Amino acid sequence: MVSTTATAATVTGMRTCAGCRGKAHRSDLVRMVVDRRAATAVVVVDPRAVLPGRGVWLHQRSDCLDRAETRRAIQRGLRVAQSLPLEQVRAWFDSHA
Ligand SMILES: [Zn+2]
Repeated sequence: MVSTTATAATVTGMRTCAGCRGKAHRSDLVRMVVDRRAATAVVVVDPRAVLPGRGVWLHQRSDCLDRAETRRAIQRGLRVAQSLPLEQVRAWFDSHA
């Protein structure tokens, strides 16, 4: 059932915001991925949704980022065990709010 839902979401382009859990079209959300090229893995914003790997989606709103951070939804969505720095994401949201 979970995989069926995921497949349908992929086809329609609908994604779930990791902050408020609301559903929105991927064009209304911003994608985040783990950048593992750095010595320490960090979360980066992927505004064009072109980077490879697992991504999580968020509304472009700082309150959704806050909620995702509080609930550790980004780490969990990215299947990362350790806490990841979100400075780059926070900076991107601040400059695109
Ligand atoms: Zn949201």
